[in-house]
Amino acid sequence: MSRCLLGDRVRYDGEIKYEPVLLDFIQQHFEIIGVCPEVEIGLSTPRPPLQLGGSLQAIKMTGRDDPSIDITEAMQNYCNQRPPQLNSICAYIFKSRSPSCGIKDIPLFNSQGEILQTIQGVFAHAIIQQYPELPISDENGLASRQQKNIFLDKVNAYHTLKMRQLLE
Ligand code: SF4
Repeated sequence: MSRCLLGDRVRYDGEIKYEPVLLDFIQQHFEIIGVCPEVEIGLSTPRPPLQLGGSLQAIKMTGRDDPSIDITEAMQNYCNQRPPQLNSICAYIFKSRSPSCGIKDIPLFNSQGEILQTIQGVFAHAIIQQYPELPISDENGLASRQQKNIFLDKVNAYHTLKMRQLLE
């Protein structure tokens, strides 16, 4: 789970983005591993906000207000190394609207500052590539009781399948 959703002070602006109802639901059913890609690559909190730019073939991660901040290589290395270490997980709940963790609608800017298209955040994309069948959501996709229950069913089914495969 994205660490900021746990209430940890890891966001770029140093603020807390606590989701108590979601966290209560998650804690009832799961053991939680909190992951913050930006902190795990060594960025401080608070830190300058980041954005995605370049092209789909060569996505760059740079400072939103200061393009001389370029963490593309560090994040790429992290995205190669971290997902395989998370092979015990049965779901991932991401923070929306983050260039690292967002699962959709993250703007990719060209050099003129125009939005070329919207994509997944780079770490979310790496997790999805590594575990294509993994149940995922962001906090917005788990707002209602019905959404939570559907997600829970998916995670249970994934867990059962994973256990079966381990026993084969
Ligand atoms: S959205 Fe992701 S990178 Fe940003 S603070 Fe939360 S966990 Fe860290």
